[in-house]
Amino acid sequence: MEKPEKPQVIIIGRPNVGKSTLFNRLVGKRLALVDDQPGVTRDRRMGDAEIAGLRFTIVDTAGWEDEDELSLPGRMRKQTEASLEGADAALFVIDARAGLTPLDTEIARYLREHDVPIVLVANKAEGAAGEAGALESYSLGLGEPVALSAEHGEGIADLFGGLWPIIGAKAEAADEPQELEEDYEEAPLGPLKLAIVGRPNAGKSTLINRLLGEDRLLTGPEAGITRDSIAIDWGWTDPKTGDVRQVRLIDTAGMRKKRNVTEKLEKLSVADARRAVDFAEVVILLLDATQGLEHQDLKIASAVLEEGRALMVAINKWDVAEDASHLFNGVRHALDDGLAQVRGLPLLAVSAKTGKGLDAMIGAAFDLRDSWSKRVPTAALNRWFDDALSANPPPAPGGKRIKLRYITQAGTRPPRFVVFGTRLDALPKSYERYLVNSIRDNLGFEAVPVRVNLRSPK
Ligand code: GDP
Ligand code: GDP
Repeated sequence: MEKPEKPQVIIIGRPNVGKSTLFNRLVGKRLALVDDQPGVTRDRRMGDAEIAGLRFTIVDTAGWEDEDELSLPGRMRKQTEASLEGADAALFVIDARAGLTPLDTEIARYLREHDVPIVLVANKAEGAAGEAGALESYSLGLGEPVALSAEHGEGIADLFGGLWPIIGAKAEAADEPQELEEDYEEAPLGPLKLAIVGRPNAGKSTLINRLLGEDRLLTGPEAGITRDSIAIDWGWTDPKTGDVRQVRLIDTAGMRKKRNVTEKLEKLSVADARRAVDFAEVVILLLDATQGLEHQDLKIASAVLEEGRALMVAINKWDVAEDASHLFNGVRHALDDGLAQVRGLPLLAVSAKTGKGLDAMIGAAFDLRDSWSKRVPTAALNRWFDDALSANPPPAPGGKRIKLRYITQAGTRPPRFVVFGTRLDALPKSYERYLVNSIRDNLGFEAVPVRVNLRSPK
């Protein structure tokens, strides 16, 4: 079967509005593929672009460049005409800082003569300086502009809202079949960046020593004895596969040392957790089996999740745990009740002293990073979206239904989603929670913090 073609989106605008910058931004690293394709004139650059899973071919028309600001000569028309012919959508770029110029107006008039759907883009809209120009651009009669900054990479995801209704169906048809399957793997991930946090004496230093198999850190019965914060790369051998996988371990216990010892220990541990997440992809909260889970542990856990990091919990000193199953279940329930953001955090029983459970713990950390990093293919995401809305339609306050139109995954690590719709101000928080929970439970994000933003394209 012949593969359907990706939709083509053409960038149009007068010189200097930022077309090339936008082109480069959308094409990213794949720029190298662009030049010298057969049949492509020197004046056009083409590249593979992607916004949040929406894939298309982007065409930059340099044709306008050589022209006198105020005229629209035939040669240029011809070039652009040819580009427009094959285009599924046009991004008409204006400079929001400069405001509208006569040439903008002329190009708008020219575009309106063609059938190609237009998405108006107000570029250079970073900060407040672009607001006036963006407002002014309404007068072109091309609808609401998507305000963005090609140079700073701001607002690019908003283009999705403009493009998806136009090219979404075609883009999906052209997606590779394997991308429609539950195959979420993206670019290979680097060493697993792991931090171990917990109250003093939970056994963090002992655990790190055990994992590394060397006595690198000072441990002892007193709290806060660790000297320095240390990042250590080490190769962990996965006992299931025999593969060696790279881990970068961050010991944050040492950070505590630098600060005022009269500060409350509670505050210190939360601050440590906050620092750890600057480095870490996955954070392991270490509990002490002889102490159980305390309020402060939940505070540390919340701090980690607020920062969007993947979190897991290990109960250490399992070798001396009393009433082990009661302890384990108690911690399980306390976590589920105390941390609304996630459900079913990985919870493991370990002993830094004997080594029990440590391979399982590191293996779980790698798995957790995978789901924290994964991207749901557009098709699967839309399937879920349709199902979620038909299972539980949005309410209709005052008899007017709130419309949720589409969803996109705006980012990973942590997974972030944007839902576009209208009358979103009226959407109850409970419905938002329903969406978050359903994403988490149905798209394989059980234990990672998922973020959902609501946005009105109009
Ligand atoms: P083109 O002629 O339309 O292809 O425009 P370029 O991409 O060459 O950009 C023209 C100028 O605008 C360059 O100096 C860019 O650095 C600048 N520029 C592009 N995008 C932005 C933006 O989002 N904000 C600001 N402030 N400048 C931008
Ligand atoms: P940190 O303050 O979190 O770095 O904790 P340490 O690693 O200094 O450990 C505090 C105390 O707990 C030390 O006396 C360790 O020997 C002890 N400890 C650590 N892990 C275990 C364990 O798995 N089992 C037992 N029984 N003791 C442990």
